[in-house]
Amino acid sequence: MTGDTISQVPVGLLTCQHTPYLKQFTTSVLSCSKKPNKQKLYEVQLLDTILFPEGGGQPCDFGTINETIEVKNVQRVGTSHIHYTTAPIEEGAEARLEVNWKRRFDHMQQHSGQHLVSAVLEQPEFGWDTVAWGVNDKWCYVELTKAPTPEQVQAVEERLNLYIRRDYPMRITFTDERPSTLPKDYTGPNGVYRIAEIMEDLDVIADEQDPVGAKQREKEEQEKGTPTYRKRNLARLDCNPCCGTHIKSLKDLQCIKMLHQEKIRGANCRLFFAVGQRALNLLHETYQVTRDLTPVLSAPGGPETFVDTVVKIQKQGRDSHKQAKTLFKEIATYVVRDWAQELKDKNSLQEGGSAPGYLIKYHREDADMDFLVVLTSLLKDNELLLGNRIFVLSTGEKKEGGPMIVTGQNEDLVKKVAAEISKFVEVKGGGKGRWQGKSKSWKGLDAAYTAAESLVNTETA
Ligand SMILES: [Zn+2]
Repeated sequence: MTGDTISQVPVGLLTCQHTPYLKQFTTSVLSCSKKPNKQKLYEVQLLDTILFPEGGGQPCDFGTINETIEVKNVQRVGTSHIHYTTAPIEEGAEARLEVNWKRRFDHMQQHSGQHLVSAVLEQPEFGWDTVAWGVNDKWCYVELTKAPTPEQVQAVEERLNLYIRRDYPMRITFTDERPSTLPKDYTGPNGVYRIAEIMEDLDVIADEQDPVGAKQREKEEQEKGTPTYRKRNLARLDCNPCCGTHIKSLKDLQCIKMLHQEKIRGANCRLFFAVGQRALNLLHETYQVTRDLTPVLSAPGGPETFVDTVVKIQKQGRDSHKQAKTLFKEIATYVVRDWAQELKDKNSLQEGGSAPGYLIKYHREDADMDFLVVLTSLLKDNELLLGNRIFVLSTGEKKEGGPMIVTGQNEDLVKKVAAEISKFVEVKGGGKGRWQGKSKSWKGLDAAYTAAESLVNTETA
C-alpha cells in the first residue's frame, strides 16, 4: 500500500454501525495531530472504529486505545471521523480499541427505544408524529405536536412493552434514495443511506392468537425429527433513516417506562421516557427515596400518604409560625414595659425632657430580626428613645450569631457604640440613625457590653 493514501472507512459503514455489539477491535492510525487542542486532546484519524461518532441525536462513545490512551470524544466531519485522545499515537501504529460498553449500551437502549416509542406513537390508533427527540445522561424525550392524555400514554406504554416481550427484530438496511431529514454535510458512503427497521414477527402474533394451534405446530415440528427453525415471517413495523448503533432485537430494551410531559413551543409537548437499565435505576432511586421518607415523615401509610402528610405538616408549620409571631409580639410589650420601669428608676429625665447617658442591652437566643424590629417600634411608640439612651438588641444562638440593632436618639453616639461593639464581636452592619448588623457568633458579647457601657458613660459625662 506504500505510496497510496489509505482512506478512512466512511461514517455509515463503520464497524460500530454494522457490528454494534463488538466491544474490542483492532485497527490502524492514519494520522495524529502534532499538538493537543485547547482541551488538551489530540485529533486522531483511525482507519475504522467501534467508537460511535456523535450523530442523529446519539451522543458519541468513550473508550480507550491501546489500553492507556483515553478517547474523550468522537466526531463526524462529512463522512470522516475524528477521535479526540488524551495522548498522541504514532501514524501507522496499531490501535486496539475498547468501547466503554456501559455508556454505549445505554445509548443503544435509549436510541432504539426512541425508534420504538416513535413507531408506536405513529400507529393509526395513536397518530402522533415525532418532530424531534433528545437524550442526555438523565432523560430521553420525543417532541410531539399535541399532548396525549394520561390514558393514551398508558396505552402506548402497554403496547411498547408488549412488543418488547414479543422480541421483534431490529435490523439495518440500505437505500440509495437520499432521506430528506439527513444533515446537509452528510453524503451517504458509496451513495447509500442506512435505514433502521423494526420488524413485526407475524408468527409470534399468530401463536398468541391461536395458542392451541401453536402447540400443535410445535408438536408436528418435533415429530418431524430435529426441530427446524421456522423462517421468520416478518413485516415492517417501522423504518427510519438512521446512523445510530441499534440493538439486535427488542428484548435488549428490557422495558420502557413513560414519564411526564412538558409543554414546549406553543401546543407542542415533550414526552419523557426511560428505557431498560435507566427505568430500573429510576425505580431504584425513587423507591429508595420513599423508603427514606416514610420514617422521616412519620407516614406509615407509605408513599400514597406522602402528599397528604406533607400538606398537613406545612399547615402545622404555618400555624406554629403565626402563633410564635403573636407570642413574640406579646413578649416584646413585656420587655419594653420592664425597660420603661428601669429607665424611670435609673435614668430620670433632665429638664426639657432629655435623658442622660444610659445603655440598655438585650439578647434573646430563640428570637429573630422581626422581634428586634417589633422592639424598636415599641421603643418609639412608648417615647423611650430620648437623649443619650442607647439600646443594644440582638438575637441568635451563641455559636451561630444573628441580627443586631443599635438604636437611640443620638445618632452620633449610636454610630460610636456600634463601632465599639465591632471591636469585640464579629459583626458587620451599618445604617443611618438606627444601626443594623449581623454577626457570625456572639462570642465576646459580654465584653462588648462592658466596653459599650463605659463608652456611653465617658461620652455623656
Ligand atoms: Zn435513529
